[in-house]
Amino acid sequence: MNRPRPTCSRCLYPVDHPFGLTLDHEGVCSGCRVHEEKTSLDWAARAARLREVVIPSIIGRRRGDYDCVVPVRGSPESFKVLDIVKNELGLNPLVVAYNCQFHTPAGIANIDLLREVFDVDFRLHTSNPVIYKKLVRESLARFRSLRWPFLAGETQFPVRVAADKGIPLVIWPVHQPTEQTGTHSYVEEPEMSRRSRHCYDLLGWEPDELVTTSSLLQPNDIEDLEYPADAELLEHGIRGLYLSNYYPWDTRRYSEEMVNRFGARCARQPRTFDTYDRIDDATYMTVHDLLKQSRLGYSRVVDQLCREIRFGRVSRADAEIIAAHYAAQPVEEGVAEFARWLGLAPEGFDWLLHKLSPPPPVSPTPLNAAQQAFVDSYRVNHEPVTGAEPYILFGKGLSL
Ligand SMILES: [Zn+2]
Repeated sequence: MNRPRPTCSRCLYPVDHPFGLTLDHEGVCSGCRVHEEKTSLDWAARAARLREVVIPSIIGRRRGDYDCVVPVRGSPESFKVLDIVKNELGLNPLVVAYNCQFHTPAGIANIDLLREVFDVDFRLHTSNPVIYKKLVRESLARFRSLRWPFLAGETQFPVRVAADKGIPLVIWPVHQPTEQTGTHSYVEEPEMSRRSRHCYDLLGWEPDELVTTSSLLQPNDIEDLEYPADAELLEHGIRGLYLSNYYPWDTRRYSEEMVNRFGARCARQPRTFDTYDRIDDATYMTVHDLLKQSRLGYSRVVDQLCREIRFGRVSRADAEIIAAHYAAQPVEEGVAEFARWLGLAPEGFDWLLHKLSPPPPVSPTPLNAAQQAFVDSYRVNHEPVTGAEPYILFGKGLSL
């Protein structure tokens, strides 16, 4: 049953956003209100505070040569993170990535390029692909999410490396709950923690809850997803900072800057106009996005459009049309490729997608000239993220 849900009067977010959102007396959401801080705070002073006060107070406890661990993905935004960490903050990072198992050619090219451009030591962790498929199967059945195992692994691996090597600082790019729904003010400086990971990244679940007699998962299968113990974090004084508390984070502007300065790759992908966001993962805007739309009633393009509305780059009225246009785009090829990878009949995926929700609208809304011009203003310098290529597991062309 489709029933209208209250939404913010300024952006497109519904009041039942999973991160939690409130509407004020003007009908404006907490995410839009906190976004106003991007223009009202003294960001130069905030960056100076990070450089001169916050970071020196943490890295004094480091053991060895590395000042910090920096997680990256194969998207232009990661270039900005390293540009700040190396060139502005003058830190020596150990750069790490958790393998998403569905790499695109553009994502692999970006990882290669950023290692070369920033001349950094780099560690990629790849979970056993056979175990990873079991985790994806279980996550699909439990949460209708294929991304839960990746989020658990990606939020664990950098902290694991920090604990193993005695590096007290992990630098993350963006605190998504603050960006999307204004869970915090930037001046509160929320940090990465076990609790934040549990509530926002893992949807209130812990990896060990997946190991049950009916799940076919063994305790060893979740080792790559389990967060280090509190005692270990305390022993090394490990803290996780978000750059978005100290810089007025604008993924689009930063991505375009990185495309211009370093040749970071940007590419078309299905179901969105955004050629920078999540272009490293071939399932993100296909299977993941269909599942998200089915679960939450809106797709990733709404997140991107809310950001664009808040920065004043598109009107709410145009954004509504653009969201409907992309929400109706089918991705049969992407679904077939994922079903082949998982050993799932495509009809099985359809059942999973629609068992709780009706199918999305089938006729795409046409865009007018102004809306098309907005869509076309996103740059492209690489082949599309989906096509004939199977998922890439490792950078030298190996796929499984
Ligand atoms: Zn809003």
